[in-house]
Amino acid sequence: MNSKGSGRFAPSATGSLHAGSLFTALISYLQARKLGLQWIVRIEDTDLERCSSEHTESILTQLQAHGLESDSPVLLQSSQIPRYLAAAQTLLKTSDAYFCQCTRASIKRRAQAHKHLESNVHDDHWCRGLGLTSGSIRFKVNQNPPPIDLLQGSTGEPESGDPVLVRANGIVNYVLSAAVDDGSGEITQIVRGIDLMGLSSTQSQIRAALNLANDQVHAHLPVLVNAQGQKLSKQALAPKIDVKLASQNLIEILSLIDIELAPDHPRALIDQTLGQFDLNKLMGLRELRLPSDQQTRRLNRVDDYTQLTIDPRQKNL
Ligand SMILES: [Zn+2]
Repeated sequence: MNSKGSGRFAPSATGSLHAGSLFTALISYLQARKLGLQWIVRIEDTDLERCSSEHTESILTQLQAHGLESDSPVLLQSSQIPRYLAAAQTLLKTSDAYFCQCTRASIKRRAQAHKHLESNVHDDHWCRGLGLTSGSIRFKVNQNPPPIDLLQGSTGEPESGDPVLVRANGIVNYVLSAAVDDGSGEITQIVRGIDLMGLSSTQSQIRAALNLANDQVHAHLPVLVNAQGQKLSKQALAPKIDVKLASQNLIEILSLIDIELAPDHPRALIDQTLGQFDLNKLMGLRELRLPSDQQTRRLNRVDDYTQLTIDPRQKNL
């Protein structure tokens, strides 16, 4: 562990980076460097059904091409599954987690019978206190206050009912693995997309329940949207970043935060940027819109759409 701490970039290996995820990587990198911190890359790949080593390779190649290299060996979460399962067992022992045998159908039935419940969320905490000994493992959300966010104010209360930490089939969910790794003591800055802000309160509660480091600074970044206002995401088939255009990609993305750069090698561009970078430019922003001509140019340039991942499901909660 380094004494000053680290920022991190933690993409899930469900597809290559698109402009939105490169934006997050870049800002987290610049903020860490600005503060004199290390920057580490962690691949969220515990969901073996959705993630692949090809996507991991693609992401790391894309980062490297843009001058973004981890200061520590890249952490593959798939190599750490026993740590996360041990954390879940600890939470069961301390009664901060419990087994649940609800199905999507049974949760929906209860929601239909009780109109105040959401149809897709275990927000009636049905299995708490039933003493079940198998099934999925859910965390008991509690009243601990949410973390403060540098850009958005409070990160807000947990956005859903008790989340699943470990699915009945043994797959560890992101909400647990990310909480455990962010609580290692090394990570002092959590800079990520605002679409994950709803997890912050829950993950802070998980770290507190596990007695892990829980004083990270949070900054949730606006999502990039296209000229039509649609969020760039794998689900929406955002084009993958073309590594052959790394310098141009950096110039275009940094222009969104009013940093104008002359063409240069990616590494040199990033070095030039450090003096001008100010995270406060993003204060209170929830969306950043790409200019229409930029989006069009990008679409015209990228020639490889074949590896796009289509995933209609939301984060695996
Ligand atoms: Zn249940």
